[in-house]
Amino acid sequence: MNSSGTIAVVDCIVVGGGPAGLTAAIYLARYHLSVVAFDDDTSRAATIPVSHNHAGFPDGISGIDLLARMRSQAQNYGATIARNKITGLRKRDGGFVATFDGGSIRARAVLLATGVANRRPAMQDASHNDAVARGLLRYCPICDGFEITDKRVGVIGTGSNAFREALFLRSYTSDLTLVSAEGAHALSDDESAQLSEHGIVVDPGPITSIELEEDQITITMPSRSLHFSSVYPALGSDIRSELAAAIGARLTSDGCVVVDSHQRATVPGLYAAGDVAIGLDQISHAMGQASVAATTIRNDLCELTMLIR
Ligand SMILES: Cc1cc2nc3c(=O)[nH]c(=O)nc-3n(C[C@H](O)[C@H](O)[C@H](O)COP(=O)(O)OP(=O)(O)OC[C@H]3O[C@@H](n4cnc5c(N)ncnc54)[C@H](O)[C@@H]3O)c2cc1C
Repeated sequence: MNSSGTIAVVDCIVVGGGPAGLTAAIYLARYHLSVVAFDDDTSRAATIPVSHNHAGFPDGISGIDLLARMRSQAQNYGATIARNKITGLRKRDGGFVATFDGGSIRARAVLLATGVANRRPAMQDASHNDAVARGLLRYCPICDGFEITDKRVGVIGTGSNAFREALFLRSYTSDLTLVSAEGAHALSDDESAQLSEHGIVVDPGPITSIELEEDQITITMPSRSLHFSSVYPALGSDIRSELAAAIGARLTSDGCVVVDSHQRATVPGLYAAGDVAIGLDQISHAMGQASVAATTIRNDLCELTMLIR
């Protein structure tokens, strides 16, 4: 959206054009509601080289391809997709005003589908993105653990999250090393004992560099290098829930938007779906939550004003 100034009120704005936001846009448009989906083009789905666990695509589908199909489907039914970042959200006259690049838009309901951002290991962006595209770096054991079956795999991180990720991956391969980026591990005695029991090597690091070769990724430490088929950073993620926080919606201790079983946030008229809400951080779950959210929005708006044609 390029024009500045406030535009006419729409039934719903969707913040986020990933699998959750686009699913909601498709549903909302097909409910004959006016919907604008804003997206600043940093979907985690866009980084998926090929997804093999998304049902309906037996040969897999790239994240870029999936998103393009969904955008086209949403637009076919009248949804507007705007390539703008929403920078502010406030309540007004029983609805909302969202601001972007100097302009603003009013909406009766808002769906947040803003996702999360994975924390990355220290690497240049180009090298990092190349590694993800080649499956040398992986961020989602649930999604692509199958692809590393019996391979030599590293996990970067420490503490309970990294411990759980290493243990999860142990069901795919016995050749696993948990490397701390920092030079020391923060694992409980019980976690250390379980890693040892399952044959997972624990290396204190610190990591000085991460290099890509033709078919492997090398983690270098001051006195040695380790070579892996794939490495999973398990460094946590940042939840993109600032807009929800700005209007007083309740968040979990991790920063996810708290929603009820119909995806309603704690602020009336605000909804959340996908990775920004608690869930499995999977495309299928993001889509499922978004379809519930869109239907709830339709029904809640219907209670406010009759939508019968
Ligand atoms: C490398 C990798 C591989 C993966 N593989 C798979 C797989 O095979 N199968 C699977 O099911 N899942 C996979 N996932 C997980 C999957 O990508 C996510 O679960 C999914 O993308 C979540 O969808 P979402 O719509 O909630 O968030 P996202 O896809 O992250 O989309 C959120 C969107 O919101 C936009 N946004 C955020 N804030 C604003 C704002 N203020 N204004 C405007 N726009 C905003 C962002 O730019 C982004 O486009 C993978 C993830 C990664 C990183």
